[in-house]
Amino acid sequence: MLTKPNIQLNKVTNITPDLLKRHNINCLILDVDNTICINKGKSMIVGANRWLLKMKAAGIKLIILSNAKPQRMVPIAQRLDLPMVALGLKPLPFGYFRAAKKMDVSIKNCAIVGDQLLTDILGGNLAGVKTILVTPTLLETSRGFKIKRAIERKLLKFHKLKCNF
Ligand SMILES: [Mg+2]
Repeated sequence: MLTKPNIQLNKVTNITPDLLKRHNINCLILDVDNTICINKGKSMIVGANRWLLKMKAAGIKLIILSNAKPQRMVPIAQRLDLPMVALGLKPLPFGYFRAAKKMDVSIKNCAIVGDQLLTDILGGNLAGVKTILVTPTLLETSRGFKIKRAIERKLLKFHKLKCNF
């Protein structure tokens, strides 16, 4: 099913070069909000900087794919020293294709890392990349997000995956 991730981890920093090698992944397409940053990018999740350096040192290509506007994403991408695709329109697959093209890698060797089933994971499965679901670090307070998270809890249960939020 299109909302089921290939891999589920608690946090992005649990991803190792070894795990990626086993799945033939050489490029990570990274969601930003609640995956590597919290508070709309004001702070990083614990250990994210060191993890990014470790991935780069292992030869893993990294690119940001966010649905947010470039105005908000450009400073974050600069701070993390990563290329980016903003206004990604996830769950449509086109942003994933753009990201793979920008990194000059085959789509089948990419994995999306994200915290949302209905955008990151659904879009990743539509695009044909591997999908890695992480637990959201800080739950959103808006009504729209509360509904989305409630749907995700049901989907996780349906997929027999653990739900830590
Ligand atoms: Mg997110």
